[in-house]
Amino acid sequence: MKNTYVYEIDGNLYINLTNACSNYCEFCVRNMKDNYDGYDLWLEKEPTAEEVLSAIPKDKEYDSVVFCGYGEPTERYDVLKKIAMALKGKYRLRLNTNGQGNLINGRDITDEIALLFDEVNVSLNASTAEKYDDICHSVFGKAAFGALVEFARSCAKKGVKTHFSVVDCIGEDEVEACRVLAFQNRVLFRVRKFIV
Ligand code: SF4
Repeated sequence: MKNTYVYEIDGNLYINLTNACSNYCEFCVRNMKDNYDGYDLWLEKEPTAEEVLSAIPKDKEYDSVVFCGYGEPTERYDVLKKIAMALKGKYRLRLNTNGQGNLINGRDITDEIALLFDEVNVSLNASTAEKYDDICHSVFGKAAFGALVEFARSCAKKGVKTHFSVVDCIGEDEVEACRVLAFQNRVLFRVRKFIV
């Protein structure tokens, strides 16, 4: 099915806003699979806020509504914000992001993120700017890493439950270095399994 704007996995509702992303990660699931858990997340047309809101089943309960698809949600920050404002208070809201939202939007969006979201998950993926750039290839180059660390730190400081996540394929030493970095920045930490 084309134009999957919302999809369900394990009791959560996911919102697929865009295929745009400031990164080109070597391990990105988009490079390996043309569907995710059976959902085709490549979009022929990006949705409006109204199209997303009307695609959400009215008769179902969800543990969380998660902004996460085949792209970086903050690439469409105005639409994201409109949807989150409409859903705020009805659902627990989570943002899965590469943490580059401030760079992408040219301003600090973390005050608004902290107002709207209950939880933020930032993909950390590496312990230094050089290593991050080697595997994630951000359009912002090495500046991306410092910006995403600051983004997560700022969200956590403003009271949002904020995690850094890494995929286990980066190796044990890197995972441990990332765990220390998370701790130093007062950000929670989780290790995800690499999806082949
Ligand atoms: S940040 Fe996420 S969506 Fe973007 S390329 Fe990396 S893994 Fe893929």
